[in-house]
Amino acid sequence: MSNIRGRFAPTPSGLMHVGNAWAALLAWLQIRSQSGQFVLRMEDIDGPRCRRELADQALADLRWLGLDWDEGPDIGGLYGPYTQSERIQLYEEAMDKLLEKGMLYPCFCSRAELLAVASAPHGLSSEGPTYAGTCRHLTPEQQLERMAVKKPSQRFKAGDARTVIFEDGISGPQAFPPGAGGDFVVRRADGIISYQLAVVVDDAAMKITDVLRGADLLDSTPRQLLLYEALGQPAPRFAHVPLLMGEDGKRLAKRHGDTSLAGLKTAGVPPERIVGWLAWLAGQTDQFEPLSAHELVTQFDQSRIPDESITINDSLMKQLFI
Ligand code: GLU
Repeated sequence: MSNIRGRFAPTPSGLMHVGNAWAALLAWLQIRSQSGQFVLRMEDIDGPRCRRELADQALADLRWLGLDWDEGPDIGGLYGPYTQSERIQLYEEAMDKLLEKGMLYPCFCSRAELLAVASAPHGLSSEGPTYAGTCRHLTPEQQLERMAVKKPSQRFKAGDARTVIFEDGISGPQAFPPGAGGDFVVRRADGIISYQLAVVVDDAAMKITDVLRGADLLDSTPRQLLLYEALGQPAPRFAHVPLLMGEDGKRLAKRHGDTSLAGLKTAGVPPERIVGWLAWLAGQTDQFEPLSAHELVTQFDQSRIPDESITINDSLMKQLFI
C-alpha cells in the first residue's frame, strides 16, 4: 500500500450520469493503479439542492459500475465523517482561522448589484463574474451599520495575490493572473459554506494527495491553492480531465437524452460496457470492448487521457447499447 490518496466527491443534486462516471472511473484508476487509498465523499453542503436518496443512489450507481472505496459515508474511516453536511464544525474552524489572519471581510452586495457591476473581462467560468471589490474597503463603522440591516456573505481576499501557478497532471503548466476572479465568497449570507472552502478543508483533513476531477473545476484550483496556503496546509496534485460534451458543444446533460447510470441500467446496458466505453474514450484501450474497472487498473496510463473535451455524438452514444 502506498500513501497516495485520492477521492471522488459527488454532489447529490441529481442522478449520476456518464459524465460523473467518467470522472469517478478515472479518479479511481489513477489511485488504484498506484495501490493508493480511495475516498468517497458526499458533497451535500448546499442543502436545498441535495437529497439523501440521491446520495444513496450515487453510492449504489458507483458500486454497480464496479468501483470501490476504502473510506466513505457508508463505511466510515479514519478521517470521517465523509458527508459534508456533518462536517460544518470543521469549516467554521477554518473560517475562524481565516478571520484571525485578516483574510476575510463581510460583503453586503446583492445579487443584482453584483451582476450590474459585472463587466468584461469575465471572471472564472465556474464562478461567474469577477467581484469588483466594492465591500473590501468599508470601515468597521460602515460594516456595523450595514450588518444591522443585512446579513453579509464573507469573502476571502484573493484580489491582490500574485500569479498562481501550478502543474496540471493532464493540461500541463497553468498560470492564473493575480486576482483572477477577484475576492470570492467562502460563506454565503444564508450561512452556507462555499464549495471552495469546504473542498479544501476536506481534502486537507482527509490527507488527499491527488485530486482528479472534471476540467470545469480547473479554474477553481487557483482559489483552492490560495486557501491551502492561507490555512497552512500542503496542497495535493491536481489533474483535470476533459469534459464529455453533447453535439451542441454543451456539457453532457439531461437534454442530450437519458445518460444517467440508473437509466442505462434500466435500459439493460451492462456496467462493463459503460466502463469499457469510457476507458476507450480516455485513450486507455485501442478499441471499444466491455471491461471491468478492475481489469483496467494495471494498464492505466494518465498520459493517454486526451486534454481536449470529447464530443459524444449519436453514433458514439449508440455504441453503449448492444
Ligand atoms: N462536488 C463537486 C462536483 O460534483 C466536485 C468537487 C471536486 O471534485 O473538487 O462537481
